[in-house]
Amino acid sequence: MKAISILGSTGSIGCNALKVVEHLGDYRVVALGAGRNMAKLAEQTARFQPELVSVENEDCAETFLREFHKLGGGAAPKIETGEKGLIAIATHEAAETIVSATVGAIGFVPTLRAIEAGKRIALANKETLVMAGELMTKAAAASGAELLPVDSEHNALHQCLRGETKKEVKRLILTASGGPFRTKSRLEIENATREQALNHPNWKMGDKITIDSATLMNKGLEVIEARWLFDFPAEEIGVVVHPQSVVHSMIEMVDGSIIAQLGVTDMKHAIQYALTFPERQPNCLEPLDFRKISQLTFEEPDMEKFPCLALAYKALKIGGTMPAALNAANEIAVQAFLDDKIRLSEIPKIIEFVMNRHQPQPVSNLEIVLETDAQARKNAIISLEKSALATKI
Ligand code: MG
Repeated sequence: MKAISILGSTGSIGCNALKVVEHLGDYRVVALGAGRNMAKLAEQTARFQPELVSVENEDCAETFLREFHKLGGGAAPKIETGEKGLIAIATHEAAETIVSATVGAIGFVPTLRAIEAGKRIALANKETLVMAGELMTKAAAASGAELLPVDSEHNALHQCLRGETKKEVKRLILTASGGPFRTKSRLEIENATREQALNHPNWKMGDKITIDSATLMNKGLEVIEARWLFDFPAEEIGVVVHPQSVVHSMIEMVDGSIIAQLGVTDMKHAIQYALTFPERQPNCLEPLDFRKISQLTFEEPDMEKFPCLALAYKALKIGGTMPAALNAANEIAVQAFLDDKIRLSEIPKIIEFVMNRHQPQPVSNLEIVLETDAQARKNAIISLEKSALATKI
């Protein structure tokens, strides 16, 4: 039996990871970390019987125990709270593999600790690499930790790059679905409602990443993620819009050959690949049915209509702490949009405001990254208040 811990177990990736674990059968779940969905965590705990769970705060811990006892689940696991709890999950002594699937910056320190502890990390939390890819990859090199990408594009690139020599690879090509506003006008995007933005055409995901997909910031964050996972410069990472999401990503070789990975749009594929690598095992998914695919199309991303993608490239080229500032500003802006405080088109404006105020520094230690994150959030709130006042919504 292999021992596994899951950070963010009640989210979309966490729930799918547990389904994969059940399918594979030879895993023991030792620890689960969740935020506030206590009914779900109680259900997962009763089923998988981890030794340790982590929840957001003491109130959540009480709710969790109530929900857990309602299920008649027997002895309760040890409960930890907050970041300390997530770190305990990430570094649990028995766990060989950690699924890092919390959303946003909250997963940053716990994931770094898991890397320092030399774990195998199935990484779904892209913000971690965006904030401090250099720190994370150096820590992994020092501890021998393995970073296996769960993000479908990076998982695809990982598959395409297997057995290839880096000097023979000309560039990485990330595919993007284009999100729900690919064919919409600027005005339509400007006036998009929360419901329209949350209506992703191909993938079922959490709210934050779905909004990031609508603005194409998700693809921008993924370009930065790819830079650190595979050590290619920004100039050698391209993005192509592919609305069917059948090709999950591609690599272009120096001789012009393109190697692509195709598959169904279900995250369980990528999660299982990350867990069983270097082996492949049959999964629980229906195979890709070519009779149902009428066409595969590709187009250039429109960086003017979707300025978030251009901002992410800019932040990566500036380097240092700039991507961490971009990420923090984006998290604040996306939450404000989800709370109906700003329009979708304000998101890139808030990010630009924060980037203009940020003096990038080299990412030499954890404190610099955390300071950047905190300062960028403050500046994002200043910009947000101005935007909310101006648009009066
Ligand atoms: Mg992705």
